[in-house]
Amino acid sequence: MDWQKLRYGLSGLLRRGSQKRSCPSCGSQECRRVDRKGFHDLLCCNGCELLYRWPYETPEEMALFYQRCYQQAGLTTDLPDAAALERLIASGFRGSAKDFSHVIQLLKVLTVPSGARILDFGANWGYGVWQFQQAGFSATGYELSNPRASYSKNLGVEVFTDWSKIEDRAPFDVVFSSHVLEHTPDPALALRQQLEIVSPGGWLIAFFPNGSNAFQRADPAAFHRLWGRVHPVMLNENFIRKILPEPTLAIGACCSEDIEGLKYWDHETTWIGTLNASEMLVLWSHP
Ligand SMILES: [Zn+2]
Repeated sequence: MDWQKLRYGLSGLLRRGSQKRSCPSCGSQECRRVDRKGFHDLLCCNGCELLYRWPYETPEEMALFYQRCYQQAGLTTDLPDAAALERLIASGFRGSAKDFSHVIQLLKVLTVPSGARILDFGANWGYGVWQFQQAGFSATGYELSNPRASYSKNLGVEVFTDWSKIEDRAPFDVVFSSHVLEHTPDPALALRQQLEIVSPGGWLIAFFPNGSNAFQRADPAAFHRLWGRVHPVMLNENFIRKILPEPTLAIGACCSEDIEGLKYWDHETTWIGTLNASEMLVLWSHP
């Protein structure tokens, strides 16, 4: 019996009677239902277009969940032992679940220069920071989980849990996040926090599960699996366009077609690529 799952289901049932459907980001109570799982609905806010699970936990309850209970198979929450880490470092993480080659290729397409200052927002145990450094960038990480952030010392990289340490080092040429925003109770707040520390001419880059209508239509079963207990919110192109100042915005996927298309993007007009893939990629250039 999975007690955590049972508790999650029951809390959905119990909260349905008393919790308002208000959007956790903008507070609007105008919403429409997009999907349903047991006692939980996925609602889309008519105000800011955020997709959010209802009923939901308080931000404090979510923070406690991530610190204590969050487990995901593979290298996301399992910290590698010394031998496994040695193998990952020897291979440069190539072919592992935490291989950042595609991100480094993307930085090259965007002509981010060698030595550029990168913040990995939600750096986990530092594998991204390490790979950015190996590729010639100057990288730092920010992470909420204490044990994962302190593990990063084993890779010889800096991952801070204290936001003021990040502010001391700001601004950054690239503020990068991968599969972080869908875990935050209010992704608009997290994005605004990131925008504040991007240097003029710099980049905000984000990867997250695709909450777009186009993806739900293309693969309803996969879309259905993407949200739930661990992902309290989903983001789509409409939400992003409301938060990130246009026009220096590109939204698509990290597929070969879009990477090719981005080579010809002028960084001055809004660029829309593939919207029906399971993962969404957002690029915003600071004018
Ligand atoms: Zn809203």
